[in-house]
Amino acid sequence: MKCVAINGVKSLEVKEIADPVSVDGRVVVEVKKAGICGSDIHNWDAGAPEGLVMGHEFSGVVLDTGSRTDLKIGDRVTSLPISPCGECEACKSDNHQYCGQTWAHALGLTLDNPGSMAQKLPSARIW
Ligand SMILES: [Zn+2]
Ligand SMILES: [Zn+2]
Repeated sequence: MKCVAINGVKSLEVKEIADPVSVDGRVVVEVKKAGICGSDIHNWDAGAPEGLVMGHEFSGVVLDTGSRTDLKIGDRVTSLPISPCGECEACKSDNHQYCGQTWAHALGLTLDNPGSMAQKLPSARIW
């Protein structure tokens, strides 16, 4: 599939990467619309991290429901891009915003979770 990735200071490239597959129960989404956030502008301006597929504000349709039984293929969705651990005290009390891992693996902000400036993406971790 095609994606847009950072390849230097104020530089992006269109390139081919492997299609995402559902791992750890994650949902795979075909991206229909992707927004540009201020943090995307900062990453583009800095040229870092190089190789990042940005984009964490998006909408799309479900291609693979992963472990979610409340979704079906073709459902129109968006996703929280954050990655709370689901195990800590903050997560267990539904205060995911205070989890130390909330942004550690966020979609489109970290190299391990490519974002929505691509034709498809895997959702954030399911907990
Ligand atoms: Zn944002
Ligand atoms: Zn947590």
